Amino acid sequence: MMPQVCARCQRTTSQPVVVAIEYGASVGGGTVFACPDCAPTYPKQRDPFDPVSPPGQHS
Ligand SMILES: [Zn+2]
Repeated sequence: MMPQVCARCQRTTSQPVVVAIEYGASVGGGTVFACPDCAPTYPKQRDPFDPVSPPGQHS
């Protein structure tokens, strides 16, 4: 998996955890990542999308 910036501490993590899927955003995707340290503290959201399988993985 590609390194991602943690949405909480703004640090790059090589083990990003998907904590939320935002949809309706005009730019970029809507996947919110957090580092393993921050993930447990991130407020969980209920979304129609399964957080385990980010959109765009299938073609
Ligand atoms: Zn973090």
